[in-house]
Amino acid sequence: MRLAVIGAGEMGHGIAELAALHGHEVRMRDIKPEFLDRGMERIRWSLGKLVEKNQIRQDQMQQALDRIQTTLDIGEACNNADVAIEAVFEDLDLKKRVFQELDHAAPKKTILASNTSALPITKMALVTKRPKQVVGMHFFNPPMLMPLIEVIRADTTSDATLEVAVDLSKSLGKTVVVVKKDVPGFITTRVLGPYFEEAARIHDEEGVPIETIDAAMRFRAGFPMGPFELADQVGIDVLHHLIKNANRPTPRSVQALMEAKKLGRKVGEGFYPYKAGRPKLTPEMGQSFDPIRILAPMINEAGELVALDVASPAEIDEAMRLGTAFPKGPLATADDLGIDVVLADLKGRKVAKPAKILEEMAARGDLGTKTGRGFYEHKEGGDGMNFETLLVSKDAETHVATVALNRPDRLNTMSPQVFDELEKALAELEKDEAVRCLVITGAGDRSFSAGADLTSFSDISKAFKVWQVSRRGQEVLNRLANFSKPTLAAINGHCFGGGLELALACDFRIAAKRAKLGLTEVSLGLVPGAGGTQRLVRMLGQAKAKELVLLGARLTSDEAAAMGLVTKTVENEAFSSEVRDFAGRLARQAPIAIRLAKALLNRASDAPIDAALEMEAMAFGLVASTDDIYEGIQAFMEKREPKFKGE
Ligand code: NAD
Repeated sequence: MRLAVIGAGEMGHGIAELAALHGHEVRMRDIKPEFLDRGMERIRWSLGKLVEKNQIRQDQMQQALDRIQTTLDIGEACNNADVAIEAVFEDLDLKKRVFQELDHAAPKKTILASNTSALPITKMALVTKRPKQVVGMHFFNPPMLMPLIEVIRADTTSDATLEVAVDLSKSLGKTVVVVKKDVPGFITTRVLGPYFEEAARIHDEEGVPIETIDAAMRFRAGFPMGPFELADQVGIDVLHHLIKNANRPTPRSVQALMEAKKLGRKVGEGFYPYKAGRPKLTPEMGQSFDPIRILAPMINEAGELVALDVASPAEIDEAMRLGTAFPKGPLATADDLGIDVVLADLKGRKVAKPAKILEEMAARGDLGTKTGRGFYEHKEGGDGMNFETLLVSKDAETHVATVALNRPDRLNTMSPQVFDELEKALAELEKDEAVRCLVITGAGDRSFSAGADLTSFSDISKAFKVWQVSRRGQEVLNRLANFSKPTLAAINGHCFGGGLELALACDFRIAAKRAKLGLTEVSLGLVPGAGGTQRLVRMLGQAKAKELVLLGARLTSDEAAAMGLVTKTVENEAFSSEVRDFAGRLARQAPIAIRLAKALLNRASDAPIDAALEMEAMAFGLVASTDDIYEGIQAFMEKREPKFKGE
């Protein structure tokens, strides 16, 4: 396609880069040459990073750059464009002006899209002579990494226009959620609103410290950042503008920071000072604050959207997970908490009137997981995937399932219950043919798993009991190691002891730069008990394994990669997108072939060579009878991506 991108700022340059990398021709327009130069400089830098990390080749970088032209002239930008995407400042009057200019300058066929986070698309459409051809395309920052695009249907948008916007978004490798009505804040901005604003209200009116609220939301609710950390990251000025645009009252603390020019991380101070790095929060700090106080108004907004038929519960949850890192999605969380519990919390407060839909559900007795029906149907005993210590999600499109250890307040440590639930989850996912790759990770961004939860082993003094615990851990991790489909440990933070043993039982390990890894048991007077000593030697050899285990070394993720302990390390910001890409690549392989290959490789170090070669020959014979082999060869000849069915 030929695209015009209007604005070369934070979002504009990212959208242009993304589109060019996916083969589209782009003309990027801004109002001053220096803004265009800066945008191009950022694109070059970012593509260069991808080359450095072997994610694209040098020639792909050059081709992407060749596809981008810059101009100050709106007519030139729109010349023959299929779609123009506007990414100028978040100001309705300016956007209306830009839409009028675009309407004059662009040929009849051009679809006009806005990247606004919250302003009404319909108002922009109505200043043009082509209101049917106007649509919202809400990218997330940074567009290169964030996996979601919200496509918003204005009151005037035609089906054909919507379809082009959806297809274009998919061509950029993104998951699309269609927002069926042009409601204020669409899905993500609207539901995220109370995350900060309610937190600020509680802080301003009740004097609850920001650290308490942030720690509770990070460690007890599993968000990657607390609301005040998030505010500092986004920028206090940006937030101020957003709240004003939505005609909501500015929280006192935000006003005070604006006046003191403490605008957040970018200036070194906002709610927190940043001279010494990220705020130091611990799980204990959040113990006195119940996250439902902030979750309930978010759930309320999400419930309103269902009632307004803006999107389905599953779409709303997906948009919130991918666009805002809401751990399970607000409506799945509501079902877990209980609709009656959420409602009782909302009724106890002055602001946020409970949504009618919640009252109706409660009256019908649809209270969520506990009654079998809430925003979702929960079959008798669920689908076998409702756990207390794990979060299991499946992506029907990519065929990737994710199991997250969900005890962020306990650094995702592993208790006997975690092992029991992991065993059940593995059995279910093994059976599920729609799952082709399994990712294991930790909820929150601090910890993958900090090891065994020693407090949960009731009588640690009884040697026999402890032996049993170790055998049980080994048994479950063996199941994981022999899981028939490919597995990937997404090491998002601390990964020690049992946590590293869990990761070692996976086929691949990708670690965020912030992660630290080690088998530190010996320093605590213990020994690794869930396969650590054995898997480590098989993976790294005696010398390196001894260095790790006997010294109880704590490695940075780069040190672990240099040793061959992790497959690769990734910048923290790029972590989830890299994990998605990697898992997606595994899931796109021929399902039968990849399972057989894994089984063969798993046996390679312990089976006698003659028997092992015999097994290989048999596997070779087996794949020859599958349909996948024909699809693989056909696709290779036709120079296209194969579509394997696993048959
Ligand atoms: P920005 O300030 O970084 O960039 C805006 C750019 O638009 C500037 O370079 C400015 O010179 C240019 N501009 C202004 N008037 C113009 C015109 N008439 N023609 C061409 N260019 C013009 O802003 P941003 O953060 O990129 O935000 C842009 C839009 O994206 C906003 O609507 C914002 O709400 C939305 N958005 C931002 C984020 C984010 O995190 N920054 C995320 C999602 C959506």
